[in-house]
Amino acid sequence: MAERPETGSRVLLGRLRDAMAGDVEGQARLNKITHLIADSMGCEVCSIYLFRDHETLELCATEGLNQDAVHQTRMKVGEGLVGLVARRRSVINEPDAPQARGFRFMPETGEEIYSSFLGVPVQRLGEALGVLVVQSRAARVYSADEVYALEVVAMVLAEMTELGAFVGEGAAMSARHSQPAMFRGTVGQEGAAEGHVWLHEPRVVVTNPIADDPVREIERLREAVEQLRVGVDKMLEIAGSQDKDQAQVLEAYRMFANSKGWMRRMEDDIGGGLSAEAAVEKEQSLARARMGQVTDNYLRERLSDLDDLSNRLLRILTGQGKDTGAEMPANPILVARNIGPAELLEYGRSLRGIVLEEGSVGSHAAIVARALAIPLVVHASRVTTEALNGDQIMVDGEQGIVHLRPDDTVVTAFRDKIAMLAEAQERYASIRDKPATTLCGNTVGLFMNAGLMADLPSLPSSGAEGVGLFRTELQFLVRNQMPRRGELVALYKRVLDAAGGKPVVFRTLDIGSDKVLPYMKPNDEPNPALGWRAIRVGLDKPGIMRMQLQALIRAAEGRPLTVMFPFVAQFEEYREARRLMDKTLQAEERLGHPLPETVKIGAMLETPSLGFAPMKFFEEVDFLSIGGNDLKQFFFAADRENERVRRRYDTLNVSFLSFIENIVERCEKTGTPLSFCGEDAGRPVEALCFAAIGLRSLSMRPASIGPVKSLLRRSDLGEVRKVIADARHRGEMSVRPAVMEWLRNQG
Ligand code: PEP
Ligand code: MG
Repeated sequence: MAERPETGSRVLLGRLRDAMAGDVEGQARLNKITHLIADSMGCEVCSIYLFRDHETLELCATEGLNQDAVHQTRMKVGEGLVGLVARRRSVINEPDAPQARGFRFMPETGEEIYSSFLGVPVQRLGEALGVLVVQSRAARVYSADEVYALEVVAMVLAEMTELGAFVGEGAAMSARHSQPAMFRGTVGQEGAAEGHVWLHEPRVVVTNPIADDPVREIERLREAVEQLRVGVDKMLEIAGSQDKDQAQVLEAYRMFANSKGWMRRMEDDIGGGLSAEAAVEKEQSLARARMGQVTDNYLRERLSDLDDLSNRLLRILTGQGKDTGAEMPANPILVARNIGPAELLEYGRSLRGIVLEEGSVGSHAAIVARALAIPLVVHASRVTTEALNGDQIMVDGEQGIVHLRPDDTVVTAFRDKIAMLAEAQERYASIRDKPATTLCGNTVGLFMNAGLMADLPSLPSSGAEGVGLFRTELQFLVRNQMPRRGELVALYKRVLDAAGGKPVVFRTLDIGSDKVLPYMKPNDEPNPALGWRAIRVGLDKPGIMRMQLQALIRAAEGRPLTVMFPFVAQFEEYREARRLMDKTLQAEERLGHPLPETVKIGAMLETPSLGFAPMKFFEEVDFLSIGGNDLKQFFFAADRENERVRRRYDTLNVSFLSFIENIVERCEKTGTPLSFCGEDAGRPVEALCFAAIGLRSLSMRPASIGPVKSLLRRSDLGEVRKVIADARHRGEMSVRPAVMEWLRNQG
């Protein structure tokens, strides 16, 4: 161990530990600590500020400032030097604080007589908990060793806060993880659920942040790092050449595990009085704080690798594995930073809800959650730092809101909402076997979208007439290697069996853009959504498409087969794909496989160009399905994955509706069956407008069929058409306000 003057912090930590021992209440502990730090560091003032809510810091204890200011002085993040330390999450060391930029005078504290100011953030794993400050009359810059000592103490304070050592009166000193908390995220899957938190990765708890035998601690750290290195090497061996991406990540892990700088910093921290665990966490906290500041993707990924590696090291040191032996609570609601689709499938239907800190609406995990019909909220920031296993939690998948440890009023309101949703479901169940026939006598076919076997049980219960879109890529996405033809045959057969004679429209592999197969090297394209994806991949690499078509033909076993190609942008692509299908059929026949009773080959209309294809295309294609999710993003040039622009353009915008009308007219002229299978088909008001402009087949999430059918059965399409025409005539940008108003008047 390098002999560094951090031993000063070790002495300080030793005194701190003695001061904290015993059955002392939180306020008395904080008072003792401020006294001790001021005394040890030879400063007149030491103060501790803790957060009372996410934006406000409160002076909770002080040695040297006016005692009357304790629990009275408050500041917002960014306000004054203390607020700046909290916002920047970094040290401020000012010899002449009153003259410093950002200084704010707090008359009640009596601090005007102090010149120098040293503030360090109190933070744990990137989460800001407060600010620790020392001040002196003399104008001086605190030395690097003093700054270091205060940082180490702040680290221990953060651990003690987490462990509940400073619980006392008032919001700033309330026990951690005990207050109600609300998180606003983004809807991933609608529905409402009540249950108990199940953390995908339980938090590691460090109960011994201070250690007085640095030699022993360094030995423990070195042993643990060695174990970690061996583990990473083993993983690398297994991943080997098969999985290049994973190997790359593991190489980065190995680099960190062998990094002398990382090791030296942790050993120095131990020299400063921390235990091995606390030293790892200190470095991890710094990495997380940096992660919040860097914008460079590569750097962020490396910091996140380091974070993951630190977690592994902490688990080795504390012996707290992922499997803590805790039992999954009743009605579990999964809380995680992020989760992969395969892991989510493993939990399966046991979950009542899912809350993710990261994730995205279009992610594969979101698609799986939808398939399992589990309410999902993504982008619920801080939820993993707040939630504890077993906490009561309510997920409002309609609004994208999560209530953690809710109070009684929220519980009552939420349960009322669940009851209302259940009532609505009952109403929908009563019309399940009735057709979606409007008051004016038009019938709209309602189908469901699917992609996993897990979806199929919804077919009878939802009242769908069949599967209007089976996204075959999901099977490819949730695995670690390319499925074999035999496996696909078995799967497609099971899908057709489960459909029990109802039609199923299989869409061929739609990969590329956001759907990257884990075992295929992603293409480095400047703009993947406009790049090599879907049918473009299928036609350029016909081997995979042929294999899939063979599997579909064999699975049909003489039954009718309906296939559609995604992302067709021009007539020729459809023709080429169709030729491939014809050739595959001939080859299968030669091999003696029975051919499907009928074969229908359609195209998805997802690019504006196809809407203007020659009429001959409309005559040739067996059917068309509008993929509104993609079509809309290209029509408005607004990325469907980008939360900033995604909702900017309304589906009921007059330009978009006119474009769809144009497609409907062309299909009517050529007698081409047309359907709409994007997410908008499942939104009742949108579905109603689509029906009004002539669409007679809609495919949507199973849970949407009831609400859409219910509205269609209560509506007269002629009247809706008139409302749309009037809104257009008035030059309105979207017909939505007019249609909503008409609906309200209908009651
Ligand atoms: C669409 O684009 O509307 C569609 C149904 O396909 P996906 O969402 O799978 O791209
Ligand atoms: Mg699409």
